Amino acid sequence: MCSCVIDNDSSLSPAWQYPWRENKGNGTIEGQAGILSAIMTVDALPSLVSFADWIRETDAHAAHRLVLMEQVERVLRKPEEVADADRRVLAEKLERWRYQHLNEHAGEFSSQHEALADALDLTANQLAGRPDRPPRATRRAIDDPSLDADTIEEAVAALGAGFPLDRLVDRATELTIEKFGGCRTTDVTGRMRQRVLLYAPVYVSSECVNHCRYCGFRHPQHITRKHLSVDEAVAQARILQQRGFRHLLVVGGDFPSKTTAAYYADILQALVREGVEPGIEIAPQSTQSYAELVDAGVCGLTLYQETYNEELYSHYHVRGPKSSYRWRLESHDRAAEAGVSRLGLGVLLGLADVQEDVIAMMRHAVYLMDRFPDRTLAFSLPRIHEAPDEFDIPHPVSDDQLIRLYCALRIGFPEAELVLSTREPAALRNRLAKICITQMSAGSSTAPGGYQPGGEDIGEQFPVVDHRSAAEVARWLEEEGFPVCWSIEETKSL
Ligand code: SF4
Repeated sequence: MCSCVIDNDSSLSPAWQYPWRENKGNGTIEGQAGILSAIMTVDALPSLVSFADWIRETDAHAAHRLVLMEQVERVLRKPEEVADADRRVLAEKLERWRYQHLNEHAGEFSSQHEALADALDLTANQLAGRPDRPPRATRRAIDDPSLDADTIEEAVAALGAGFPLDRLVDRATELTIEKFGGCRTTDVTGRMRQRVLLYAPVYVSSECVNHCRYCGFRHPQHITRKHLSVDEAVAQARILQQRGFRHLLVVGGDFPSKTTAAYYADILQALVREGVEPGIEIAPQSTQSYAELVDAGVCGLTLYQETYNEELYSHYHVRGPKSSYRWRLESHDRAAEAGVSRLGLGVLLGLADVQEDVIAMMRHAVYLMDRFPDRTLAFSLPRIHEAPDEFDIPHPVSDDQLIRLYCALRIGFPEAELVLSTREPAALRNRLAKICITQMSAGSSTAPGGYQPGGEDIGEQFPVVDHRSAAEVARWLEEEGFPVCWSIEETKSL
């Protein structure tokens, strides 16, 4: 019989689900009131120790868990006697336990399981010495239609095929100019255009242990793989700097013994010394690892959920660390809690029902916006164009659909960066730029070391379709009147 203090049948009240929404935070005094009310709610949550009996009775690893809980209790009683680093190590252990717990009980998650997950979350946060906050609630948010009401109602309606595309394009264009219209334009007609930030990816490692069914880089594939040293990554960055770029996205596969947080921290530090603004598109990290990457100079995180449909997610991500849905889903929470200032979301179009996925992503963004009102949000909608032979794309997305999706995002999130990669052909990229895109890659290579002239051909992670050079893309943008920026810093001066 269960002796936990939490009632199995208790349903979660709205205040419990989204405590910070009571007084919505926006970085102002009003926002702080929201945080304070959230802390009061948090104080009412059961402490970790109150789960001891339930863990003893139900957890196969109870002995180990109880020892850890005892350690935590001791530290929380006299935190001043324990070094910060030791408290952070303990916090990471609790975070790991929490995700093991979430994974183990994914299909049969009761309110009691949820309550333990929340207690682990908040206790880890407290141990790490981070500001008090309500428990992470991403999973609840993406399924909650009540989140649509204030912010994304119009955007959700715009996703329906019945909404005329030309009207949508006009509305998205208008909003883009309103929010991103630069004070300078090179268009001879004097037409106002939004500024566009150009960036390039630096692929540093094609090593990967994951088995994503749709990816030609997945672990069992026999391809030549390459893992750049820090110096090799810097050499790539220097080539890109000569082409004008200052904002670079460090991209790597998921190979835990090689693509460690320390590896990325070394690369980021080296790039910052070179005058680069580095973002990351790498495997999800722990909160502590994200904090280390923030210290190393990371300016933003790009991480696609691929699909928000948990069942399909499991189907596509068969083995490897990426098979943990919640670990990936909460990456933006962990990164933001660690101090990452730009949060990039995305789904891989083609895997699941596109409307459902984009609505879930928009709710995810509403949740993040409420919780971290001072961060910049970015969205990207990559389509699968090429997949391994045995993979048929189950939900192909047409060009017009893609335009509709980007327009809906602009309507729902007028101030968000909308990002477009070189996976799409030049004509479509040009068309979308004239509507709502504010950030584009250009002249990209998706192979580690791929910018080195005459370097060995080791294969790209996905095929680049727009083969224009960075200079050609910049020239086209300027001729069309778009102010072109090569760094985030430069966008601030417009
Ligand atoms: S999609 Fe990324 S994580 Fe998955 S197999 Fe390919 S490189 Fe690895």
